[in-house]
Amino acid sequence: MKLESKLPEVGITIFTIMSKLAADTGAVNLSQGFPDFDVDPRLIELVNAHMTAGRNQYAPMQGVESLRHGLAAKTEKLYGAVVDPDTQITVTSGATEALYSAITALVHPGQEVMVIEPAFDSYVPAILLNQGIPVFSRLTWPDYRIDWDQVLDMTGPQTRAVIINSPHNPTGTVLDSQDIEALKLLVARNDLFIISDEVYEHIIFDDLAHHSMLRYPELAERSMVISSFGKTYHTTGWKIGYCIAPPQLTKEFQKVHQFLTFASNTPIQYAYADILQKPELYLELGSFYQRKRDLFLELVAPSRFKPLPCRGTYFIMLDYSEITSEPDTDFARRMTRQYGVAAIPPSVFYHDGTDNRVLRFCFAKKDQTLKEAAAKLCKI
Ligand code: PMP
Ligand code: GLN
Repeated sequence: MKLESKLPEVGITIFTIMSKLAADTGAVNLSQGFPDFDVDPRLIELVNAHMTAGRNQYAPMQGVESLRHGLAAKTEKLYGAVVDPDTQITVTSGATEALYSAITALVHPGQEVMVIEPAFDSYVPAILLNQGIPVFSRLTWPDYRIDWDQVLDMTGPQTRAVIINSPHNPTGTVLDSQDIEALKLLVARNDLFIISDEVYEHIIFDDLAHHSMLRYPELAERSMVISSFGKTYHTTGWKIGYCIAPPQLTKEFQKVHQFLTFASNTPIQYAYADILQKPELYLELGSFYQRKRDLFLELVAPSRFKPLPCRGTYFIMLDYSEITSEPDTDFARRMTRQYGVAAIPPSVFYHDGTDNRVLRFCFAKKDQTLKEAAAKLCKI
């Protein structure tokens, strides 16, 4: 039997590897991004209520109506964009599925997709499985900004799409108004699409505003904007996300979505539709996580790690170059085994393994977990 892999370079994701190593060694797990605190009990009750009420069969392919209507209302309120819940919104099984569906819907064999690294690990395999060609631009170091001159140089008629992610995993940077101007220039020069990964849209700090593509008509008209309830409601295991796009793009997106999963979990969609009626839950998320960021910063201040600025997401990069010159993948494993704290080595988010001697730490954790981890980090 001859098995030619479609993804010969791809192994098990770093999130699975580091979470398993943390579990096997009993280390504090600040690697994979997920909260270690409980979900709002009201949300659990809502899911239970919808299950008990018999909402347990297939949801509509596009997502349940009340959820799509709730998302349209929220989008208009937050970003000033009027979107039609019937022709512009698709509920998906997590942002991962939305990203895969978006890339599959847009990218033909041989077309290029601009990926800005470090990049979330699902983008490139999805491009490759569609026989697209990933083209890489690297964020500047150490401030992790997009090098727009490079992006403009590398894009042309061969470019089908660019993937944007703000707030950015793993660096914690966010797009500003200059980035938006550069993006407008990019689309004025090139007839390309934007796949905008905005899963951390509500986790943004220091009074900064989230620059959703949906705010800017000239960007929104060619964007598939992807988000996820998992980050916003501390429910990463429920795997519900969505894509907002113009009707023509949504039509193509749904052609893929309907044969990838057909529809997503029904009672959970109803529960999210209900909880969307409490905007304070997402409006307060930024200050909730800002407090955790600041606590973690304060706790690691006496250590030999040097934090890089974090303006959004629940990740922070710590520079460990004062401690060792080991590659980040080696140090991440040794730190887990020897010092009992697991983190993510960001070199895995670069196609060429760029290694700046930093590690990514997730601070979506109970204060007690952060204290325990920081005490260990201060001993290194
Ligand atoms: N994009 C980014 C940048 C992420 O960090 C994540 C979370 N792992 C996802 C997409 C996927 O989100 P989901 O868990 O909803 O599939
Ligand atoms: N988004 C999470 C992270 O960046 C994990 C996603 C996953 O495990 N696939 O850590």
